[in-house]
Amino acid sequence: MKFLADAMLGRLARWLRFAGVDCAYERDRQDEAFLRHAADEKRIILTRDKKLAAKASGPAYVVGSDHCRDQLRDIFTSFTLHQGDILTRCGDCNVVLAPISSADAFGRIPLHVSSSCHELKMCPSCSKIYWRGAHVDSIECTLRKILKEM
Ligand SMILES: [Zn+2]
Repeated sequence: MKFLADAMLGRLARWLRFAGVDCAYERDRQDEAFLRHAADEKRIILTRDKKLAAKASGPAYVVGSDHCRDQLRDIFTSFTLHQGDILTRCGDCNVVLAPISSADAFGRIPLHVSSSCHELKMCPSCSKIYWRGAHVDSIECTLRKILKEM
């Protein structure tokens, strides 16, 4: 299941990606281009704008809440999604991460990370490197909390 979030749902898009869900995000495009993007890639539109949703040729979902946590819970419930591995998709680019060796990542990650043989992954689009550590653990913890409340 693939989604396209509109300009008002940037935080939601990031959190869906952290949860392993494919969610593209459009910040600047006009309605027509936005709708075409969704149709071309067969994405379900996520929006707060009822008028925009009504103009869509494919499926569109109007997100009810203003709050990211509620939105996330809403999407997971409405589409019966399951949380995937949180280290699969770049939060910035929505691109699937690729494994990278600590030798290739040398100099681009903190020394304590490269020396303790963490699982490393890199975004092929923005080259950001992700690894299991404080940041990813806190994302996972927050997601678990949100989704447990469903
Ligand atoms: Zn990226």
